[in-house]
Amino acid sequence: MITNNAGTSVDVIIAGAGIVGAAFAALLGRAGISIALIEATAAEPDKDKSVADPRVLAITRASEKILRKINIWDRIAGNRIGCFREMHVWDENGHGQIHFDSAAICESTLGYIIESRLIQDSLHAALSNMDTIKWYRPARPVLLEKYDDSVVLGLDDGRRLRSRLIVAADGSNSAVRELAGITLDSHDYRQSALVSVVTTEKPHGDIARQRFLSYGPLAFLPMAEPSRCGIVWSTRPEHAAELMNMDMGRFHLELESAFAGTLGRIISSGTRASFPLRRAQAEHYCQHRLALIGDSAHSVHPLAGQGVNLGLLDAATLAEIMIEARLKGRDAGAYSVLRRYERWRKGENYRMMMIFEGLKYLFESEACPVRWLRNTGMDIMDSVPVLKEWIMVQAMGLAGDLPASARGLS
Ligand SMILES: Cc1cc2nc3c(=O)[nH]c(=O)nc-3n(C[C@H](O)[C@H](O)[C@H](O)COP(=O)(O)OP(=O)(O)OC[C@H]3O[C@@H](n4cnc5c(N)ncnc54)[C@H](O)[C@@H]3O)c2cc1C
Repeated sequence: MITNNAGTSVDVIIAGAGIVGAAFAALLGRAGISIALIEATAAEPDKDKSVADPRVLAITRASEKILRKINIWDRIAGNRIGCFREMHVWDENGHGQIHFDSAAICESTLGYIIESRLIQDSLHAALSNMDTIKWYRPARPVLLEKYDDSVVLGLDDGRRLRSRLIVAADGSNSAVRELAGITLDSHDYRQSALVSVVTTEKPHGDIARQRFLSYGPLAFLPMAEPSRCGIVWSTRPEHAAELMNMDMGRFHLELESAFAGTLGRIISSGTRASFPLRRAQAEHYCQHRLALIGDSAHSVHPLAGQGVNLGLLDAATLAEIMIEARLKGRDAGAYSVLRRYERWRKGENYRMMMIFEGLKYLFESEACPVRWLRNTGMDIMDSVPVLKEWIMVQAMGLAGDLPASARGLS
């Protein structure tokens, strides 16, 4: 790391140390690349870890492979994490249902259910042991100057950083994306997702369940404890606001009724949080000396639990392309190198985005012919093993054009 009048020089600047930015930093850091990691929030060393994180994430087998590659998986799995062997999806209006079982494809699990905070804390702990990584926290980028051979980033505390590439991993409201003038093609779903962790009367049996209601899906995601689930309830914003403000007793009754008592009574619930939902895709994933990864490049509906998984694939792909370029003596921040990343990931993300979009509209339509079609379609799908196997491989994140670190079963 060199400091001169133009500021501190590093190989790569990463803005945002969420799961995607932190994983990307770890992938590059272990390859000996020097990094300035900028994070807007302050570190919270005294955070009370006994309070459950209301945000739990479905993590695919592909993401497991990427996290293994950076030696994070054992640290995460050393804690209590949920595995789902089966998935059950059904429609409130009708008879249609689909059941997926990992045994059908000779796999022990379809994926994992993990508290978002556990993954992020494990990544941050690993990064703190890497001498290739320097943290700038709390700090936010306020200025971006691009030159032919470098990029300069000014922070809100007055410091300046110079590198050959800046990577934005600062989430869906990315400041770096705005500073670079990259526009976002965005569609507001007019839905919010309410999340919480609940204890149910009946055990979940390691099955991820999703019931499609007329205003959006309600998922119960099995956590490590046999009767604990993370819930994700996508609904109209006004309904989500109502649910957020309900007293606990009424909230439990509403939830039981919306889930048709599938897991019996709701015994207890933790903190609730709500997130507005939109689909978004950045017009460009890269410019000369700049690339976007994770939610700074795209946001998807949580119904398939894939947002962070797609982001980890972005991170692994870009890291592989950059490391290969370095080995060949090429400038990893040059547009010609970054364009390969954009061509690779933009199409893949768009393909997944359209699958989720199709599912969302198919399940939300109240029109009789569509309702009939989806119920019949689900029954047909449930009876065709090849189709179900195809869907399971997609849900495990093992389909499509994957970076080397995410490829292959088991
Ligand atoms: C209700 C809900 C349920 C979901 N469930 C799943 C699921 O089951 N599985 C799944 O894969 N995905 C899921 N997702 C999607 C997932 O949460 C996101 O895709 C994921 O968090 C994106 O990670 P990221 O690191 O790109 O961005 P973020 O998580 O948004 O992280 C961005 C980081 O950048 C920092 N930052 C922000 N602004 C700045 C700035 N100006 N300067 C510096 N730092 C900045 C932030 O503090 C943060 O640390 C869900 C989303 C929602 C809303």
